[in-house]
Amino acid sequence: TLSTDTIATWLRLFTSDVVANVDELTQLDAAIGDADHGSNMERGMTAVVDGLADSPDLPGPLLKKAGMTLVSKVGGASGPLYGTLLLRMAGAIGDSTEIDDATLAAALRAGLAGVVDRGHAQAGDKTMFDALNPACDALDAALADGAALPKALQVAADAAAAGRDSTVDMVARKGRASYLGERSVGHQDPGATSAAMLVDALAEAVN
Ligand code: ADP
Ligand code: MG
Ligand code: MG
Repeated sequence: TLSTDTIATWLRLFTSDVVANVDELTQLDAAIGDADHGSNMERGMTAVVDGLADSPDLPGPLLKKAGMTLVSKVGGASGPLYGTLLLRMAGAIGDSTEIDDATLAAALRAGLAGVVDRGHAQAGDKTMFDALNPACDALDAALADGAALPKALQVAADAAAAGRDSTVDMVARKGRASYLGERSVGHQDPGATSAAMLVDALAEAVN
């Protein structure tokens, strides 16, 4: 099971990844968007981490506060999308003190459903969905196979990375990159790149 501390560690590790790779995220967005994905994510996640010191001592409410921070601090598409992901995870976890494996997998899936409700992305649209959806599938499959959570999350992180890589060949159909149409081919999606970091950070937090 996961405790509040593990969730806080996840958010911290993700923020470190974002900050360490802020230039890469910005450059990817410069190629097919408006060059602000790095700064959007850095601003949002730094505010989330700043708020952790004064956060609820339950995983669900902590994620809810983090999600609300992202929605309010980030003007771009990614703030409401990642914010909704965390808010829906919070809703799925509720007021439990510990999160068991099945609840974590269901919460991630609920978070992804929130991203879809908000942005209507489908597989192959070249968005964060293309990293998150394979990660949810891989997590479910690994847990169903009897894998322990650390191993299952490592498999999910690998699937997210493969999904991220698969966005290179896709034509963008959602968000700013969709304005480029075919010219978006050959570029890795910035949101799929940060989403792979999010799943990787979760695997790291649990391992
Ligand atoms: P903005 O496009 O408003 O500048 P960001 O640059 O921070 O916002 O985020 C861009 C990323 O958001 C894209 O790379 C993509 O992964 C994701 N994104 C954009 N629109 C959608 C959508 N409708 N559904 C899912 N993800 C989306
Ligand atoms: Mg942008
Ligand atoms: Mg923008």
